[in-house]
Amino acid sequence: MEESLLERVMKRKVEEEAGVTKVARVMEGEAGVTGLPTEGELKDRLLIEGVENAISRYGVKMSVDDIEEVKSKEMELKDREETGEKVENDAEYKYRSLEIKLQRSEDEKEQMKHELKKVTQNMQKYENQSKKIQEKNTLEMENYKKVVVKLQEKIECPVCLEVPREGPMPCCPVGHLTCSPCLERLGTQARQGRVECPTCREPMGEGRSSLARIVIENMAHQCSFEGCEEMVHYNDYGQHQAVCRFRRVVCPGDCDLLMAFCEVKKHAATCQEVSRGFGVKTLTQEEKQDTDVKWVSEMFSDVNGATFFLQTNKEDNIFSMDVVMLGSKDECKELSAEVSIANPDTKNVFHRTTFSPRPISVSNNPRDSSLVVRQSTIARYWNYNQKTKNYEFTVTAKVHRVTA
Ligand SMILES: [Zn+2]
Ligand SMILES: [Zn+2]
Ligand SMILES: [Zn+2]
Ligand SMILES: [Zn+2]
Repeated sequence: MEESLLERVMKRKVEEEAGVTKVARVMEGEAGVTGLPTEGELKDRLLIEGVENAISRYGVKMSVDDIEEVKSKEMELKDREETGEKVENDAEYKYRSLEIKLQRSEDEKEQMKHELKKVTQNMQKYENQSKKIQEKNTLEMENYKKVVVKLQEKIECPVCLEVPREGPMPCCPVGHLTCSPCLERLGTQARQGRVECPTCREPMGEGRSSLARIVIENMAHQCSFEGCEEMVHYNDYGQHQAVCRFRRVVCPGDCDLLMAFCEVKKHAATCQEVSRGFGVKTLTQEEKQDTDVKWVSEMFSDVNGATFFLQTNKEDNIFSMDVVMLGSKDECKELSAEVSIANPDTKNVFHRTTFSPRPISVSNNPRDSSLVVRQSTIARYWNYNQKTKNYEFTVTAKVHRVTA
């Protein structure tokens, strides 16, 4: 039985590997060599050279489907020749371009595999590098922190045990430091004006440590507000404290409680001196006279959800009103509060004023209020309630952003 071309090509591949002469030489006259194709077979081969080349080039690399395709092409070509039909050039051409495409995609696949490998290797390299940099940074940060702690220990005042945040740093002739406020206190207690160094008891003298000042001005200081863990650089310290969540503020109601800024909302929800929204304010016959009155602070929000408190007081027949923002001075700058005083019966607004809200702070001083109105002004329009015999009026406020 005749061997199929595929079998022959496979066989030849084995032979080539074994060092047997290539097809070209067979064609030149070495036909008949055992195991190699005969002249008749070579004719076949010439017709289907493209097929053959492809098989020998790809050999075992080709998939079963590819081989099947090549085989069927081989059969087709053979049939055509047997029936005397000429092999059409374009069919062969089409077939060859299929081969080229096949080869190209194979090459591209190899190329992509190679590039993928390279990318993976690079990624691994970068990952390792960034890990090393991170480790180095952590180490340097730790060293820096150690140095800062050492410096802080060295310039800590031996009296109040605090790291001064402001110069000058007084020092004794030996070099021991004391903070300025403590030295001042020691001075007022000293006998005959002789101030001793709290560390070595030598007279302090007028020495100032410029080194300590440089250290103070170039280090981060722990924020002094209770609860705040932040380390803030000397230059940013004041700015931080003005907006620190733990800065001390007084209740915007009249309970006088001091608390951290971040606790105000929670406190206001339960404080007896704060209410939600605006209500009718009343004055009894006695209160209308010279009595001082403080109404509960009324909590409200603007469209952005910021919290405000409207404070209303009466002292010496003068009404004072203010809008306090649960926010910083800078935040208040961008806002405008509009306060309206009205008759709750007729709804007639008889007084309306606009001013900047003030930021919540450590104290409430009604005398600094933004809006001051005499009782006689309000009394002209307020409502006299026949039933309760009280005088009634409402004060409402809204806050909006100042448009530049
Ligand atoms: Zn001190
Ligand atoms: Zn000393
Ligand atoms: Zn702070
Ligand atoms: Zn309160």
